[in-house]
Amino acid sequence: MPAAIPTVKDEALAILKGLGVADSAYAASGLDARSPITGETVAVLREDDRASTAAAIGRADEAFKVWRSVPAPRRGELVRLLGEELRAAKADLGRLVTIEAGKITSEGLGEVQEMIDICDFAVGLSRQLYGLTIATERPDHRMMETWHPLGVCGVISAFNFPVAVWSWNAALAFVCGDSVVWKPSEKTPLTALAVAAIFNRAAKRFGEVPAGLLEVIVGGREAGEALVEDARVPIVSATGSTAMGRKVGPKLAERFARAILELGGNNAAIVAPTADLDLALRGIAFAAMGTAGQRCTTLRRLFVHDSVYDALVPRLAKVYATVSIGDPRTAGTLVGPLIDKAAFDGMEKALAEVTALGATVHGGGRREIGGADAWYAAPALVEMPSQAGPMLHETFAPILYVVRYTDFDDALALHNAVGAGLSSSIFTLDLREAERFVSVAGSDCGIANVNIGPSGAEIGGAFGGEKETGGGREAGSDAWKAYMRRATNTINYGTTLPLAQGVTFDVDASAEKLRPTHPIVI
Ligand code: NAD
Repeated sequence: MPAAIPTVKDEALAILKGLGVADSAYAASGLDARSPITGETVAVLREDDRASTAAAIGRADEAFKVWRSVPAPRRGELVRLLGEELRAAKADLGRLVTIEAGKITSEGLGEVQEMIDICDFAVGLSRQLYGLTIATERPDHRMMETWHPLGVCGVISAFNFPVAVWSWNAALAFVCGDSVVWKPSEKTPLTALAVAAIFNRAAKRFGEVPAGLLEVIVGGREAGEALVEDARVPIVSATGSTAMGRKVGPKLAERFARAILELGGNNAAIVAPTADLDLALRGIAFAAMGTAGQRCTTLRRLFVHDSVYDALVPRLAKVYATVSIGDPRTAGTLVGPLIDKAAFDGMEKALAEVTALGATVHGGGRREIGGADAWYAAPALVEMPSQAGPMLHETFAPILYVVRYTDFDDALALHNAVGAGLSSSIFTLDLREAERFVSVAGSDCGIANVNIGPSGAEIGGAFGGEKETGGGREAGSDAWKAYMRRATNTINYGTTLPLAQGVTFDVDASAEKLRPTHPIVI
């Protein structure tokens, strides 16, 4: 008998109304916004088509032409106000993330906290958009870099971080002087509408925000394609599967637009002989089962040294057997639902395939919770004879594959022998192993950690990965540079015109006749 769970629809609609989402967002037919907690449809939304997407891009383009001339620290003030509004709305928006993406309460709230954090970061950044002054070989000249706003920034986001990914891009784009057109996942449009309403509150308080500075496109792949193909959008930050990136990347390259690709991961950890096993156990449990295995940084592959395998893996299997699975709104739940049936089917298929390869599967299978169209799965710990089959690819579900190793170099080679290159970690107290792991000859990922799991990044660092993860970077460090265009300026404040590299090109100014004194080679 499925456990009874109260309806999520009324609560979600009340939150959306409270945050100021207009009735015009809803329609009799259009995009179904559902909650994975119960599988019920929460609302039907008006969907954008090519024409309305083009119109939104047009408005954003106009807004850019105004916004780019607002001084950057003043632009930062808008983001500061956005951070304030997010603080005020944290409980409601966090709850909506839980309802729409199925994240447990602390993770729903944590996602909003991440938005607040990146706003704080961007406010500081708004006074630090500086370029270099570079020594010039010419007398009485100055050479410098100037950073200018770029244009309309397209943001395509995935369901599993329905709002934080937008903020990583948008907070930076706004202080950099860009406007933003956001195409959220078709699986999580409600949280996007809520964020747009929160943004509007900040914009109202700011006072002079040009209409169109933030546009939200409601729709699926076609709406994303319209954004990717529009020549008025010079930069697109696209977060989602590697399959999506394979379509989007070439289209952007074809029209020389900038791409920030944040794609799938197949993240691994190594547990070495000296590892603190208690620490490793906790780190692995969160990284592998947190967010029901639906993080891009979720731990999916574990290489355990032979000498500690029997001390760790049976304990891990016990944790898997006892982890609390259920309604993500309930205190004590650690694993909520998968986003939909397709996710559950993908997990079942991968488990069937590895079983055929001789793996031992602990856990897995459906839990009857929440209703016919709610897809709760028991996380699976899979002891593999070797790295093979589905282990080589991301299955976006809570499956952790474990392989024994004896030689550190072999473990490193296995670690790097997959297409994705997002996040990685090692548990070791051996300084040499730790340093080798983060060295040029170690992990080939964009994120490499020591004695913490691969999941749960902070906004201060640049986030992203290599290889099939797409190579993009967003959030902290100098990721802001992608949202601006760099101009190198050389200024002559003298009365002569010396040329670089010793080239001479003397012109008889009075005769207005060009008279090169040396042959010029170009
Ligand atoms: P998805 O690829 O199905 O969809 C992501 C977004 O891309 C959606 O908004 C979708 O409408 C859009 N889209 C799909 N095809 C498109 C196309 N041809 N043109 C334009 N837009 C298109 O991904 P998902 O299921 O929502 O999210 C899960 C995936 O995202 C996983 O692979 C996960 O690893 C990845 N992810 C990566 C990061 C990262 O930072 N690297 C972060 C979160 C999620």
